[in-house]
Amino acid sequence: MRYIQADWIYTLSGEPVKNGIIAVKENGEIENVFSFENFSKNTQVEKHNGSICPGFINVHCHLELSHMKGKVAEKTTLPGFITSLQSQRKASSEEIQTEIEKADSEMWQNGIVAVGDICNSDETIIQKKNSKIFYHSFIELFGFNPALAEEIFNRALSLSEKFGTLSNSIVPHAPYSVSKELFEKIKSCAQNFNKTLTIHNQETVSENDLYKSKTGAMALMLEQFKLDLSAWKNTGLNSLPSVIDFFPQTNPLILVHNTYTEENDIDVATSKHKKLYWCLCPNANLYIENRLPDINLFRRKNLKITIGTDSLASNHQLSIWEEIKTLQKYFPEIKLNELLTWACKNGAEALQLNQFGTIEKGKLPGLNLINSKGEIEKIL
Ligand SMILES: [Zn+2]
Repeated sequence: MRYIQADWIYTLSGEPVKNGIIAVKENGEIENVFSFENFSKNTQVEKHNGSICPGFINVHCHLELSHMKGKVAEKTTLPGFITSLQSQRKASSEEIQTEIEKADSEMWQNGIVAVGDICNSDETIIQKKNSKIFYHSFIELFGFNPALAEEIFNRALSLSEKFGTLSNSIVPHAPYSVSKELFEKIKSCAQNFNKTLTIHNQETVSENDLYKSKTGAMALMLEQFKLDLSAWKNTGLNSLPSVIDFFPQTNPLILVHNTYTEENDIDVATSKHKKLYWCLCPNANLYIENRLPDINLFRRKNLKITIGTDSLASNHQLSIWEEIKTLQKYFPEIKLNELLTWACKNGAEALQLNQFGTIEKGKLPGLNLINSKGEIEKIL
């Protein structure tokens, strides 16, 4: 048994414990958390300066874009970002594999124990089989043309089979890139399982413009990609209320970005779906849109907030702690216990990973030390 003590233990299953001691079995399983007063003074402990929290859960990443680090210009808004991403040359498969491997080990070093990872290909399978990190892969579909829905969905089924026993589910990319027909196929497949789903949501203002009035930068971008919008009908509403019915209530749903989500969108979505998780990717939002979501609105509405890094195409690192530091800079009033709840407990719940997220008897959450310099040291 290891006995690990720090100035503060953020168990996230109760209030932080001052000078608490965690008893951990050889296999990393938590045996108990003791307060300083209730712990035998004769037992040998490892004493750390700083705070201990569970391993971080990164609910939104694109490991397969790791080779794009530093290649896409910042603050161009999403249509500019997507256009620039599409125009990049295709990297060699060696280069792609090397960068995937590096990104995976970077996340582990940064105290991340589980990741919800978006996939458009089989490129990450080898690394995921060998990784110390637990991955749930979201097999992501694009397809605005209704005539191609069947073909696109069948391709996703074959990709899902390639993942084999690696945890995965088939998901839509975004409200603006998936036809109604494709959304319906994803929905009827998801209803057979309780697996977590995800979608990029309201990342840019022009996504709402498209749904409200079929105008704006997103509509222009789709036309530039030679997509036929003539049969597509806008709803007159923002994008989230327009697509929320495509998600079965049985499956937890992670809405990613939410940069332009308004109060009415939240009210409609939460009235129709009871298992919503709202993922913040602050550094990617600043990289692409130079704007953050209305986080205090989310807090007032008691939403389950989670944190993601997005990819190295839109971030300078893959670190949940760096995302927390950005949130602390812009929202200094939010307490560390609340931020860690988003980064650990809510993320584990969103991905349905019971062993992670809190420091409690029987769990294997991993342990991170936030040392006195404010850096993360992985201690378990
Ligand atoms: Zn993303």
